[in-house]
Amino acid sequence: MPQPEQPTTRRAARAAGRGRRSTRRRGVALGAVVALLAIAIVAGVAFSGALQRSAAAPAPGSSATDVAPTDAVALPDGAGAGAGSGPATGIPAPAQTSVAAATCGDPAVTAALSGGSDADVLAAFGGAAAFRAAVAGGTAPCVDLSDSRRVWVVVDKKRPLVPVDFEPAEVTAPANMPRTVDGRLQPAASDALTALVAAAAAEGAGSIGLNSAYRSYDVQTRTYNGYVGSMGREQADLQSARPGFSEHQTGLATDITACNSGCAAIESFGGTPQGAWVAANAWRFGFIVRYEDGYTPITGYEWEAWHLRYIGPELAQVYHDGGFHTLEDFFGLPAAPTY
Ligand SMILES: [Zn+2]
Repeated sequence: MPQPEQPTTRRAARAAGRGRRSTRRRGVALGAVVALLAIAIVAGVAFSGALQRSAAAPAPGSSATDVAPTDAVALPDGAGAGAGSGPATGIPAPAQTSVAAATCGDPAVTAALSGGSDADVLAAFGGAAAFRAAVAGGTAPCVDLSDSRRVWVVVDKKRPLVPVDFEPAEVTAPANMPRTVDGRLQPAASDALTALVAAAAAEGAGSIGLNSAYRSYDVQTRTYNGYVGSMGREQADLQSARPGFSEHQTGLATDITACNSGCAAIESFGGTPQGAWVAANAWRFGFIVRYEDGYTPITGYEWEAWHLRYIGPELAQVYHDGGFHTLEDFFGLPAAPTY
């Protein structure tokens, strides 16, 4: 997976400047220079540690050089090939292990998981990138990817909802958009979709409408059985989830459509300006295109340009920045091509 290259930080540039100046006076006070370098290294470790703890969720569009080495967060899956190598200043880079992300044993993590919001948990781990790395690396067994109440829940053909007839605590209708059928989402996802639709229009992509969102176990039963009746079970399984296995049941997934003079069928969304804009920009609002073209062997579904899954802005930025294409890869889970 592509990771951002190690940025040349302002701290590194300052350190390099200090090094050049000190060599001009090397006959005078070599011992003092060595002492200063030692202080600089210690200060650098402390500074880097502080950045690690504060760089939880840089705002969309912020530069990697502003938040320092985001790739210094532990990446147990080996994705960060450049992590750990410091800039070529002649001064050793701080050891990455000294700023390791929090683990399940950290009291802040325990407290956040027992009573905090999803954002609290991400922050306790040291940010969404550290959270993902810990989960994918298998070092965060306290994070349950089957917890349907959490924004990071993963539902696929190997991972049914728990319980299988789960119902979200609250779903609301997104405001200010055309709709072709019906749709309610968990409140954060609902607000995010409203913002996404407004931004798409403001940025010239056109109008986006809502086709479907939360579907209960019973509604999904009728939806799936309708597909089976019209095309047979094998083809139905490529296009519709069996009841208890649908992301729509979480209240975090929505099907959207392009609306011009009228709203088109969702199946045409991928070929529209709206579809192109959503593919490039959904992450800014906390959504991912869950079933991308070419990933059926992992997701078990054909390309669905119209099906968005809300994972929250912090995780969606990490997903985007890391070049991920499936939630299964994002969290280090097995492929789920079949039940
Ligand atoms: Zn869908």
